[in-house]
Amino acid sequence: MDCLFCKIINKEIPASIQYEDDDLIAFNDISPKAPVHLLIVPKKHISTLNDVAEEDVELVGRLVKKASELATQLNIDQSGYRTVFNCNSDGGQEVYHIHLHLLGGKKL
Ligand code: AMP
Ligand code: ZN
Repeated sequence: MDCLFCKIINKEIPASIQYEDDDLIAFNDISPKAPVHLLIVPKKHISTLNDVAEEDVELVGRLVKKASELATQLNIDQSGYRTVFNCNSDGGQEVYHIHLHLLGGKKL
């Protein structure tokens, strides 16, 4: 499959990986919009938020939980942060493999 994030997951393309387990990976955004800008990505290929099935609900919940855990590790949990899923064209989605942006480290 010609998917950039699947290639990162399969280690065909390098990324600055900050966290990885059997289900999730988190790496630095290549074009950061804030001092902290991570992308938290399920290893399962799901194209858009519209394609999240009932069976994926727990996985998506884990993405959100991992965002808060990484925010704590990076010491931005108290200063605050923003989490974003972009969906389709009007939402500004560029990579069609769902990912949660974690942004912080400055006033957004
Ligand atoms: P979105 O617009 O929500 O689809 O976000 C895609 C994000 O992926 C953008 O913020 C890009 O900067 C980021 N991105 C694109 N290519 C890479 C890459 N090779 N490694 C890390 N992040 C990337
Ligand atoms: Zn993919």
